[in-house]
Amino acid sequence: MSILERLKSYGSVLVEEPMSKHTTYKIGGVVDYYMYPDTELALIHMIRILKEEKIPYYVLGRGSNLLFHDSHFHGAIINLDKTLNNFYFEPNGTLVAQAGCSIINLANEAMKRSFTGLEFASGIPGSLGGCLFMNAGAYQSDLSMVLEAVCVLNDKGDLVWIDKNDLDYKYRHSLFQRHRNMTIVAARLKLEKADQDKIRQLMHSRHERRVRSQPLDKPCAGSVFRNPAQIPAWKVIDQLGLRGHQIGGAKISEKHSNFIVNEGNATAEDVHALISMIQKLAKEKYDIELITEVEYLNWDEKKKI
Ligand SMILES: Cc1cc2nc3c(=O)[nH]c(=O)nc-3n(C[C@H](O)[C@H](O)[C@H](O)COP(=O)(O)OP(=O)(O)OC[C@H]3O[C@@H](n4cnc5c(N)ncnc54)[C@H](O)[C@@H]3O)c2cc1C
Repeated sequence: MSILERLKSYGSVLVEEPMSKHTTYKIGGVVDYYMYPDTELALIHMIRILKEEKIPYYVLGRGSNLLFHDSHFHGAIINLDKTLNNFYFEPNGTLVAQAGCSIINLANEAMKRSFTGLEFASGIPGSLGGCLFMNAGAYQSDLSMVLEAVCVLNDKGDLVWIDKNDLDYKYRHSLFQRHRNMTIVAARLKLEKADQDKIRQLMHSRHERRVRSQPLDKPCAGSVFRNPAQIPAWKVIDQLGLRGHQIGGAKISEKHSNFIVNEGNATAEDVHALISMIQKLAKEKYDIELITEVEYLNWDEKKKI
């Protein structure tokens, strides 16, 4: 039986799939297998096959924080969005959700039930899994603030619940970033009861603010750099005079200078060239190290940031 036939026993598998169809940058080379496991059980067994066959793989969410290289990835991508997206609210505000849930959808569902805590996430176009990996956040809040525990598929193929305090959560940081062999399968969050109109208004005003300040009409991956302690990244880029600067099809947004947008035909190398240029100038002129928030996948280790 071929590898493909074995993988297809556990879900749907797209072959030779362009990653540009699965990233918000609309950038990325072809991948051998792009897979949607039917269930958690199927996920466990797809990963077992990939390990047996020594096929490299990544588990992805909505591709909204990725710079996937233009070259062919001889490996597999596992996506949980279509199948592992159930969620359950308890009356006391406990929310248990699978990693493939859209965080925007969870924020809306929480609002409908008058639960506060996820308003900050109502404009973040990621999956719960991706947001737990990145510790996504906005407006001085982040996901770890409402998190209790994460259900992880570990290297041995066991599903284990890990307490938030053991996951090294900090600003845009989690233990998962150092332990790529852990797959996030679900999480338990704790929300609080509040006035529904106030929750709705807060979400609405933040949405308006995003529309005003971010280039949401262009393919992008949100903020490119983490904010250094001393100054926001967008200010550094502005002070360098780089707002609007373009390399190939990649451009520093005129609307928000910590966003790099794809003007239509950008390659991952174009985006990378802009990122490297900004980092070099920030270091030379202000001695500031700008660290990327965007994740590099399928890059030569030497170039990876
Ligand atoms: C317009 C726009 C606005 C944005 N605004 C914000 C913002 O305000 N705040 C913010 O923090 N981010 C923001 N982002 C960035 C992005 O949405 C977040 O980082 C989000 O958390 C990424 O989720 P994702 O599902 O798309 O993850 P992906 O991009 O698919 O993956 C990101 C990383 O997580 C890993 N990963 C994903 N799922 C799993 C899993 N189940 N198990 C293990 N690893 C996994 C991937 O391997 C990858 O390394 C924005 C992006 C855009 C395009």
